[in-house]
Amino acid sequence: MIEVRGLTFDYPTRRALEDVNFSIEPGSVTALVGPNGAGKTTLLRCIAGLGQPMRGAIEVHGVDVLARPREAHVHLGYLSDFFGLYDELSVRRGLEYMAWSRGAHAVDVREVAARLGLADYLESLAGQLSRGLRQRLAIAQAIVHRPAVLLLDEPASGLDPEARLQLGDLFRELHRAGMTLLVSSHILAELEHYASDILILDAGRVIDQHGVRTERPTRSIELTLSRPSPGLDEALRRQEGVGEVHAEGLSARFDFTGDAAAQQDLLALLIREGHPVCAFAERRDSLQDAYLSRMRRPS
Ligand code: ATP
Repeated sequence: MIEVRGLTFDYPTRRALEDVNFSIEPGSVTALVGPNGAGKTTLLRCIAGLGQPMRGAIEVHGVDVLARPREAHVHLGYLSDFFGLYDELSVRRGLEYMAWSRGAHAVDVREVAARLGLADYLESLAGQLSRGLRQRLAIAQAIVHRPAVLLLDEPASGLDPEARLQLGDLFRELHRAGMTLLVSSHILAELEHYASDILILDAGRVIDQHGVRTERPTRSIELTLSRPSPGLDEALRRQEGVGEVHAEGLSARFDFTGDAAAQQDLLALLIREGHPVCAFAERRDSLQDAYLSRMRRPS
């Protein structure tokens, strides 16, 4: 759905993107992450057809963005980090204008306004909205023409906690409706709830891209005891499928290659042997873990 090949982008004083290559599958939700200054905003602007790169090719929904940006805009929605709104237009007029300018003449703007909690503000002027409501309007404008691809640069900034939760729901809904999302954010705990993939940029280069929901053949299990149990290490090591055991205080962590039934058998055995297990669960790497471990690894 998004193809980027050999993308290099220079500002007058510095190179922001260097030979960036990746592709994004239709229907995925990709978290675009990286340290400040990594090039995330520049990359999103280029995909949105708003930056002229030195080299490279970008396709969105099969359209060459650099050669045919206007056609590409029909298929994509873009929320920039610092967006402008037409302050003298009402919410309704602003949404209608954005839909029409992208060739969507038959959309019901009330529906998208309701989705973003703006139903009561349809006749309010954009210039009179609060920071969070302006953010909601900008997101509504990005999706009003029902694009196949949605690019979002820090979409949650300025939103109150409830609106942030609703934003997560909205992204899941758009995802279910088949939209492909590329979302840049520093709030990994929020991306966690809806991202299927992670794309990590560092100093203008892609340093990693992988799925975050893929099942792994080895599970990492974490268990907690209610009181010390000296034979636990030994009991675990005797079991088939248990890898190296890291025990500390009342907790132990180990890799396990068995399936769910084998996991159940292992727990039953530990309890039968009298180990006071009070918690036993598969530990899933969070998006934050995946990001931090990649950033700490030398490239
Ligand atoms: P952040 O997480 O802080 O928003 P980012 O990953 O979005 O950062 P960019 O804003 O794309 O990073 O910036 C990439 C690099 O390009 C940075 O080194 C930045 O200083 C530089 N840069 C960005 N905009 C300009 C500009 N208009 N002129 C010169 N350099 C720029």
